[in-house]
Amino acid sequence: MIFLKLTNLKNLFKPKYPLLYMAEKIHLTFLGTSSAIPTATRNHTSIFLRYKSENILIDCGEGTQRQLRKAKINPLKINKILITHLHGDHVFGLPGLFETLGLNNYNKTLLIYGPRGIKKFIKNIIRNFIFTEKIKIQVKEVNGKFIDTEDFEITAMKLKHNSICNGYFFKEKNKLRIDKKKLKKLKLPGSSEIAKLKKGKNIKINKKTIKYKDLTYPEKGRKISFILDTQKCQNIKKLIKDSDLAVIESTFLDSLDKNKVKERMHLTARQAAELAKSSKVKKLILTHLSQRYEYKEKLVLKEAKKYFKKTEIAKDLMSITI
Ligand SMILES: [Zn+2]
Ligand SMILES: [Zn+2]
Repeated sequence: MIFLKLTNLKNLFKPKYPLLYMAEKIHLTFLGTSSAIPTATRNHTSIFLRYKSENILIDCGEGTQRQLRKAKINPLKINKILITHLHGDHVFGLPGLFETLGLNNYNKTLLIYGPRGIKKFIKNIIRNFIFTEKIKIQVKEVNGKFIDTEDFEITAMKLKHNSICNGYFFKEKNKLRIDKKKLKKLKLPGSSEIAKLKKGKNIKINKKTIKYKDLTYPEKGRKISFILDTQKCQNIKKLIKDSDLAVIESTFLDSLDKNKVKERMHLTARQAAELAKSSKVKKLILTHLSQRYEYKEKLVLKEAKKYFKKTEIAKDLMSITI
């Protein structure tokens, strides 16, 4: 209710030059944060990312639909799904989600990206389940940069797990921002001129050329990386390098279950933290926690923080804005 009131108030303070004030926030909601077996407090893996008009679901474990409802996210808004791999705890929610979208007249084409095997997997879902209403789905097997727009890119790289698995990073493009102080000194141009400056184009005011370099400054795009289900490998570093936020799986604790890591092909809290530190990550969120730590989360956090202070443990329905 409070949120609704605030958004109404926002309209009263609409900026005169909206292009100057557009802060394109990136919102993340952790819908599920358990590993293979869900617990009373942790659902199977799924993360929702919202940026501008993009509504991206990363993995869709069993029960994701109800988590979306609890997080007050309309599933009809989802336009892309990134699947890391085909283990059940990451994909069992897909048939149910397809059914809901169909029953609610989803009129977009749902774009699904994943590792090798995802095409056959989705084809089999569509073939084997009896859907009341079908939706349009396009599936792509991806490796490397597969989305490249004016605003952002998404890249996939292979990880090392006992199923073909992709890690992903979302990277906003570097931008030119307007220096408001300098702009004020000039006779303010209109929105179209500001848009040109932001694209790196010079403009003319009263026949005088204004160089974009004199009125703008560069701003680095934000980077968020997603490392789910993997053991230690080189590509993790490439994916998470310089991330503003790295979401990394932390199935085990180094201090208690180090011996399970290689056999099950996962990471420990210590490994995730060390990787974040050596890759100059700004903030680390650990997820995909084993059920064995249901009441030992503090131990997971303590272990990780020993190696990388800016660590947090994901909780179901936790939201973060960058
Ligand atoms: Zn998993
Ligand atoms: Zn897995």
